[in-house]
Parts: sequence; C-alpha cells; structure tokens
Amino acid sequence: MEPPRPPLLLLSRMFYDSHVTSAAAHTPTLIVHGGAWAIPAGAAAAHESGVRHALETGYALLSRGASALDAVEAAVTVLEDDPTFDAGRGSFLTSDGRVQLDALLMDGGRMKAGGVACVERLRNPIQAARLVLEQSPHVYFVGSGAEQFAASHGMALIDNSELVLDRERERLAQAQARHSAGLADESFSGPGSGPHPVLLDDKSPETAFLSASLVQNENGTQDHAEGRPPSAQDHDTVGAVALDSHGNLAAATSTGGTLNKTPGRVGDSSLIGCGCYADNLSAAVSVTGWGEPIMKLVLGKWATDRVASGASPEIAAREAIAYLYSRLGGHGGIILLAPDGCFGLAHNTPAMAWGLATPAGLQTGLTV
Ligand code: ASP
Repeated sequence: MEPPRPPLLLLSRMFYDSHVTSAAAHTPTLIVHGGAWAIPAGAAAAHESGVRHALETGYALLSRGASALDAVEAAVTVLEDDPTFDAGRGSFLTSDGRVQLDALLMDGGRMKAGGVACVERLRNPIQAARLVLEQSPHVYFVGSGAEQFAASHGMALIDNSELVLDRERERLAQAQARHSAGLADESFSGPGSGPHPVLLDDKSPETAFLSASLVQNENGTQDHAEGRPPSAQDHDTVGAVALDSHGNLAAATSTGGTLNKTPGRVGDSSLIGCGCYADNLSAAVSVTGWGEPIMKLVLGKWATDRVASGASPEIAAREAIAYLYSRLGGHGGIILLAPDGCFGLAHNTPAMAWGLATPAGLQTGLTV
C-alpha cells in the first residue's frame, strides 16, 4: 500500500502545472525501439543497425544539450527513413495497396502533444506531428487536413507511391491470399488457444498468423511452430523516449500500422496514452504491437501511472505487457523511462529491436 502523501505535495498536484522540472542535474538518456515481433534471422542485422543509427543521431543532439523532444523527433525521423521498419517509406500497405501513416510526439515538460493519422503524402509524419505540437492550438489532425496543415508549414507533399516498396506489395498479396483462405477471419484468441475464447472482435493479420503458426507459452511469449516462417507477423512500428539534461521527458511513436489494414484504420501508436505518452510527473513511454488491445487498455498511460505510484519502470514495463496478455491476449513491447533516468523494456513477442544511449555508451539488442 502507498504511504499517505505529505499534504503540501498533494496540494501542489491539484494545481495546473504547465512545466515541471526538478533542479537536480539529469543524465541524458535515449531509448528507441524498432518494433516487437518475430524478427527473422535474415533481418536481425538491419534492425540492429537501424536502431543504432537512430540512437547515434538522437543522442548526438541530447549530449549537446538539446531537448528530449528534439532527440526523439530526430531518432524517429531516422527510423522512418529506414525502409527496414514499418514507419515512413517501406511501411505495410492498406488492403487497397497504399501507405497510411500515424505518428504522435509528446513533451512531458510542457504537457504538449501533436499527432497525425492516416497521412499518405508525408515522408516523415513525426515531423508533421512536431509541427502540430508547436504551431497549432489543436493536438491531432487526420488525413488530408493533416497533410494540408503540414504543407502550410513548409513540409513537402509527395506521391504515395514514393512510400510503397515492392517488398510490401508482395507481402500484401500473401496476406490477402491468407485472408481468402479463411485464416484472417479467426478471432485473435484463436480457436481454443488461451483463456479468452469469448473476445471475438479483434481481428488482425497477427491474429491469423498467430493462430496458424505460433505456440503460446503460459506467460504470453511465443514459439514458432515447426516449419512456419515468422515473416507474416511483422510489427515494425518505431518509437523513442528521452530524458534531457534539463530533466524533461519526451516520447514519440510512428507507424504504418498493421498489414492489410482497412483504409482509415488508426491503431494505438498515435493515440495519446495508448502507444505514446510523456509527463515529467510520471514517465515517458512508447508501445508497439498489436494495436487494438493496446488501445482498449490505454496501455502507455497505464504503465506511466504505475511509475507515478511508485513502481520501478522495469517492473511497470513487465507488468504492462503481462496485463496486455492476461486481459486481452495482446502481444507487444514497451520502452518506459522515468524522470530519474531509470528505465524498463519488456516484450512478449519473440523479439523487439531496441537501443539505449547514456553517457556510458550505446547498447542495442533484439531481445530483453
Ligand atoms: N501498434 C501498431 C498498430 O497497431 C503496430 C505496431 O506496433 O507494429 O498500428
């Protein structure tokens, strides 16, 4: 049980706080992810070098005294530009063969956020999200309105075909063949797999592949059934969380969403508190994975609230992923960073590409 709060602290939290930092010196920290899924051996090196490149770019800024917000935006821009990941060019395709992108950025010091969804003509949606955060009284724009807003602030509008790769056209054709074979109509829990047989509303490419090819372990981690390729279960959304030397937290998440999604579908990634959240009074978080369950649990905010109530980010990250699975059978990964620089990473997918940069150096990995 939590000890009673001192009355003054309680009182101070009842007032509006537009900017919260502490006077103590802070260790600049940047954590990035490149999606949580069954990364095939052949793609492992590209994932690790991609997250390393993002770390180098973001941390170069952070170590020169730039803001956490600048660092997460720069890191995510690198990941959007890298076709390895499901963000920016090279993203998964909608069922009608287009790229539709979602991104959100949040500044935990100023409590400002900017988001865009279903944009098709922007190479770097995270930069459009930054423009929304800085230049608009609104927080979130979608579709052509988001594109027009970005264009009116100087961003180039491109043709959607510039974001589409042949690799993704092939991947879409395979997904649609599975759908025609009836696999995509299975519920996310799969017939008889696990404790949630009545939750029939979440259908996604992961669902079909999951029930067809993965063996569930008790804790929600997965093993590939003999002879089945992991490539159809891709979740390569990208994200970053940072703490700057001034003690401010920021978070950013960017995605092309799920493979073969219906045009207009928005997942968790760009929704505040779902795939991304930052508040200096709690923590910064970026979540990746199967978006529909993550949205329903408002999982990012759930995890930062745990940190605000005293849990270590390491425990809160693990608890969030356990909750995602136990409550809705969901799969994904999370990066979580507290104002004191403590952090947690967790996933219940076979892999999650991640990277960490502190003054002690850079680290990357594909599992936690
Ligand atoms: N969460 C993303 C979505 O559902 C996908 C991902 O993280 O890879 O759109």
